[in-house]
Amino acid sequence: MHNPDEIRITGLKFYAYHGVYDSEKEKGQPFMVDITLRANLREAGISDNLTKTVNYAEAAGVAAEIFMSRKFDLIEAAAEAMAGGLLRKYSMLSSVSIEVYKPEAPIGMEFDNVSVYITRKRHKAYIAVGSNIGDGPATIEKASELLGANEDITIVKKSSLITTKPYGPVKQDDFTNGVWEVDTLLTPEELLFKMHETENALGRERLVHWGPRTIDLDIIYYDDLILDSEDLTIPHADMHNRDFVLKPLMELAPCKRHPLFNMTTAQMLEVLSAEG
Ligand code: ADP
Ligand code: MG
Repeated sequence: MHNPDEIRITGLKFYAYHGVYDSEKEKGQPFMVDITLRANLREAGISDNLTKTVNYAEAAGVAAEIFMSRKFDLIEAAAEAMAGGLLRKYSMLSSVSIEVYKPEAPIGMEFDNVSVYITRKRHKAYIAVGSNIGDGPATIEKASELLGANEDITIVKKSSLITTKPYGPVKQDDFTNGVWEVDTLLTPEELLFKMHETENALGRERLVHWGPRTIDLDIIYYDDLILDSEDLTIPHADMHNRDFVLKPLMELAPCKRHPLFNMTTAQMLEVLSAEG
């Protein structure tokens, strides 16, 4: 996924109408854009085959179309839109950096240049899904359609679904559980927000903690990120104690290591089974 190969396009020149001031939107001014595309270029290098890389002329065209598509207030927003557009269009890209220069920006002093430089990445996350009200498999299918409808979330793989006995002290119906691998351009917080929107759309009410739910979506892993915030614990704090997470995860990522425990899915499942 991550490697240092890059395709660089520098000094793309535009006359455009971006800026906070009305005068900038009316009169326009020159801009310059640098694009760095990161992907594994080994196969293209070995095969000498254009289909194994990103066509730089086409990528420059994609970026230019986005840059000229509207009058952005901020070069930050123009850069964000170009980075997102390129990552969405070319799945082989692991990350994109964009620098947008505005050499005649209204700064009121003599200066050489002003620019913003951003890097945006594709992330791989694992999401655990569970349902125990109504038709579990149908609800989970619906949830995957809703979540996957977001342009920045692609559900790449789904485990098969398993039926499990409820966890915790509340008496309730059996659960249907599974795990999805997703490719996303969202931050963990943005992904969680989209997951909550999906839960809400399917009629989830948070009545009893650990109680019955039409659908529960939890982030298990987000790359190898370790995060502890008020809203999010990643890796999921209890995943290693849940066979209904580890078993489906075995199908998708048996060798992936938990970034804190440094244990593979298979090893965590073995420990859990031994504990009974
Ligand atoms: P649970 O999943 O524990 O049964 P909820 O789905 O109601 O309960 O989640 C409660 C809160 O847990 C969420 O609002 C979210 O802020 C927080 N949370 C912490 N870590 C995670 C995670 N890795 N994935 C999903 N939610 C998480
Ligand atoms: Mg949850």
